[in-house]
Amino acid sequence: MEKIQSTCNFCAIDCNLDFYVEDGKIVKTVPTKGYPVNDGFSCIKGLSLSKQQTTVKPNSLPKIRKSDGSWEQVSWDKGFQYVADKLKELQAKYGTESVAGISTGQLTLEEFAIFGHVMRNYLQTNVDGNTRLCMATAAVAHKQTLGYDAPGYTLKDLELSDTLIFIGSNPVVAHPILWGRVRQNQVPGHKIIVIDPRRSETAMNADYWYDLKPRTDLLLLYTVAAQLIEKDYLDKTFIREHTNNFEEFKEFLKPYTLERGVEGTGLSKYQIHELVELIHKGKRVSFWWTMGVNQGYEAVRTAQAIMNLAFMTGNVGKPGTGGNSITGQCNAMGSRLFSNTTCLFAGGDFGDEAERKRVADIIGIDDDHMAKKPTLPYNKIIEGINEGTIKGLWILCTNPRHSWTNNETFATAAKKLELFVVQDIYDTIESAEDATVYFPVVPGIKKAGTYINLERRLAPMRPVLPRGENEISDYECILGVGKALGMGKALEKWETAQDCFNLLREVSRGKPCDFSGVKWDELTNSHGRQWPYPEGREAEFSADERRLYEDGKFYTANGKANFLFEEVMDNPIPTTDKYPIVFNTGRGTVGQWHTQSRTKEVRFVEDASSKNAYLYMNTKQAEENDIKEMDRIRVYSSNGQDAAFHVKITDNVPYNQLYAPIHYIECNKLTPSNYDKYSREPNYKGGTCYFVKEDDKEVEKA
Ligand code: SF4
Repeated sequence: MEKIQSTCNFCAIDCNLDFYVEDGKIVKTVPTKGYPVNDGFSCIKGLSLSKQQTTVKPNSLPKIRKSDGSWEQVSWDKGFQYVADKLKELQAKYGTESVAGISTGQLTLEEFAIFGHVMRNYLQTNVDGNTRLCMATAAVAHKQTLGYDAPGYTLKDLELSDTLIFIGSNPVVAHPILWGRVRQNQVPGHKIIVIDPRRSETAMNADYWYDLKPRTDLLLLYTVAAQLIEKDYLDKTFIREHTNNFEEFKEFLKPYTLERGVEGTGLSKYQIHELVELIHKGKRVSFWWTMGVNQGYEAVRTAQAIMNLAFMTGNVGKPGTGGNSITGQCNAMGSRLFSNTTCLFAGGDFGDEAERKRVADIIGIDDDHMAKKPTLPYNKIIEGINEGTIKGLWILCTNPRHSWTNNETFATAAKKLELFVVQDIYDTIESAEDATVYFPVVPGIKKAGTYINLERRLAPMRPVLPRGENEISDYECILGVGKALGMGKALEKWETAQDCFNLLREVSRGKPCDFSGVKWDELTNSHGRQWPYPEGREAEFSADERRLYEDGKFYTANGKANFLFEEVMDNPIPTTDKYPIVFNTGRGTVGQWHTQSRTKEVRFVEDASSKNAYLYMNTKQAEENDIKEMDRIRVYSSNGQDAAFHVKITDNVPYNQLYAPIHYIECNKLTPSNYDKYSREPNYKGGTCYFVKEDDKEVEKA
């Protein structure tokens, strides 16, 4: 029996697992002992990866839709040529930017790098990723505040902090291994604090829960900052030596009185005072945020308000501290720096001529052929399709028919496309219904590549199972289309995933994310490597768990972090007489992943999960409407759509709020087309609605 260590490609923790293989089959999966991230533990999603050996169809070939709607199976070469010809035809007919791509934080570093090379460089068009749906806010907030998209923490900080504050974050369900690290915290008397309108599973396990009104987190954070100033609970040395704009921030905060905070957030004076004192008394305070912050209409400023609290109290760069973003997908961090979409490979600026030339020389193209501007964001791509300016779309390893906000807008868009390529391990995903081409690619257990986790750790994916005759990876599929497009010399250095890794290593040299010292072979069976890890300085960076900013130096022009702030906005989608209820969304269970294209194949997850869409309703609200457990209601959203859900009754969701798990297509049917103005991330948590009991509706119809 052979043991092969590889990386789980679900969430951003990037646990490592040992797969035991006999006669070409995985017979046992064991979380890797000693791996610094998960040290012998994993959640059920990682353990279920072996199921893909039976659920993913082996030896599939591409399919092209015929005019009568049926599929024709073709060879890979024919599939590549068909897509390449069609992309060129559409560009010739409708313009360069009439074709687009949507990539994902689920792919390897090398896969979205080559996709960004083919689409953004060679075809000079737009590619966004589904990272826009989860981490764009954190990426923009980091760039503006820190000067680079560089979360500074290491997971060890969860064990070293004496005051852990989770804001819009539910790691018990969404990041169970991260929560395991919290449980390993040995600091005597450490406190766990949760700020969330809902009594989430993490709130249930916290010492303090602050149940503020929905979308008042920015107001609370400014109120807390103002109180820290009023009480002189500041680290003045850190502020003076390591930050910009503090005096302006102090002036800005004057109208954020305690009374205003109390009135807006619904928390009491006592609660806000208590939170301020907890922050002040903590010696090592860490702030952690996730989608409850990222998916809002003023999300970037909210994320920055969290970082502001860390700066003003000097909780940065020291063990157990930081204003820390918890990433969602397994390679969101890689996608943010190496997809050639919002920035040049390794975080450069598209307008920086010298940097463009440097990157072009390394990757082997003329710098005139490098992408010249950041991509159109995701919402503009979908709008472009609906408005008729975009005619071709190629999506990889993502399922926007389900996951896109107000997802009927994607359903409409998909029907308008002249070319719609779906590249995925399953042809059963909702997005494939309107595909004109389907490229079947192998799952992670059959391919090689690299992931970067939430604490900047590069980890290897290595093939666990052998491939069948026709089976190819996402990388090889994109390379095939690139060759069929006639890219020639522009692909010479990109022949394999390992070649691509070496190009990216070189591109990263000298940048904050420098991983030039990481070698492909050395990454295999390793503890992974956090960036930076520059070649020639390996000994200096050899520790298994490292944090950034220990020297108080940031990546801005003067090396200081920026206090950034802006007046709290009026909610663009307030509750009204017609739509009096907030429609909140988020993760359902530990076993389910996003649109369930993979986890619904796992028997023990399916057995424990609802087959049908459901949501949570407050007990009093249910009683007032004569709703019993598992009754069906129809929810009417202010976005004009409606959908039916079963009801689970709970006191953990407040009155006049509903909470719907994202794993059902009905959920994002009801979320709004509304975005943060800086990150363009959708305001998934910001919907409003009313509901009718399904029986009542039938009565109304009669
Ligand atoms: S889903 Fe996340 S926590 Fe679970 S095994 Fe995979 S990487 Fe680890």
